[in-house]
Amino acid sequence: MTVHADTFLDLTQHEIQALRTEFNLADAHTHQRQSASQHGIVERLPQLWYEAEEGLQATYEQRFTEAFFRLHRQPTALEKNKTLLSYAASISTMVVAMYLKRQRMAVTLVEPCFDNLHDVLSNMGVPLYPIDESALHDVDRIYTELKRRVRTDALFLVDPNNPTGFSLMSHGRRGLEEVVRYCKDHDKLLVIDFCFASFTLYDEELARFDVYELLEDSGVRYLVIEDTGKTWPVQDAKAAMLTASDDIKEDVYNLHTSVLLNVSPFVLNMLAEYIENSAKDGMASVRDLLDVNRAAVKEALAGTILEYQEPVAKTSVAWAKIRHPELTATELQRELRGEGVYVLPGRFFFWNEPGKGEPYIRMALAREPEMFAGAMKRLREVLDRYAG
Ligand SMILES: *Cc1c(COP(=O)(O)O)cnc(C)c1O
Repeated sequence: MTVHADTFLDLTQHEIQALRTEFNLADAHTHQRQSASQHGIVERLPQLWYEAEEGLQATYEQRFTEAFFRLHRQPTALEKNKTLLSYAASISTMVVAMYLKRQRMAVTLVEPCFDNLHDVLSNMGVPLYPIDESALHDVDRIYTELKRRVRTDALFLVDPNNPTGFSLMSHGRRGLEEVVRYCKDHDKLLVIDFCFASFTLYDEELARFDVYELLEDSGVRYLVIEDTGKTWPVQDAKAAMLTASDDIKEDVYNLHTSVLLNVSPFVLNMLAEYIENSAKDGMASVRDLLDVNRAAVKEALAGTILEYQEPVAKTSVAWAKIRHPELTATELQRELRGEGVYVLPGRFFFWNEPGKGEPYIRMALAREPEMFAGAMKRLREVLDRYAG
């Protein structure tokens, strides 16, 4: 389908257009090639295929879930063994939305965030209210800020956040503890999207502690989404996970089974290989590439009107702010697109107040470094037009 380039209603429509652009820095999916050891997995794909044909579905579900939660150091999630698998995080989010809708709950969703979350919830008929991410920035104020601002029965957070990279884990245990304490005291359902959590796995200051232990012990009502899709270069052959607190897990299970039976055992078997590979190299194949491209962004932006925003958590996207009195992100994005570089304008991430996003653009980092360097060169040429 071809649509006029200026009629895009959401980020995905931008991303579809960007897939035809020379330098696509729009979607945060993984477009890099395989690392040396990942090539070995691709070579063994026929074997993984036949293995999956032979065994029981439950075997591959178990293998995948164990590998995932072991890599993420989430022993309580492993032990509880109640996580539901789906094809994509958006499917898990749809199930969350179905649950909220059925319970006639409205939800308070962090702003900014990836617009797909807002759109899924909104298209499922769930009333949404924003909470500015800054409510979470000062750990001593989290409880009072939530108390002051949340007026709905559910609170939906993204950690680390896409696009800003903010993470509650930067406060140590206490950040999430304060959120949980608030939700427990005020009988709120806590929903957390951890789709970007793999990027901080080996970061001492930001790696997750056993968050499921905290959630379970507190008795808070919760729904947690985990994902593989943004981490490994697997051509979108991904799987996501949804875990619910005991008090609602049966209701959630009944909604989940109305959507799907199972994820492909072949995909689960293959993903388990990627996960185990990353456990062996300490996430090096994922992180090193992102580090190289992040350094390239910083270098390309240095001294220009586009200021790199140093994130709390280094994820697979870069967030930058325009320092120019007249130039908006919408205009800069259009100009860059004309030069073959597709970035995302900030408006869409500010799903409640798009105007707040006008100073920002987002660039995806999970790309081949060679292509990425070319994109940065072109970006710099455009930015230099605004120099002086
Ligand atoms: C990409 C993304 C999703 C959705 O993942 P899909 O694989 O597109 O369904 C959800 N949450 C976050 C934070 C994401 O970045």
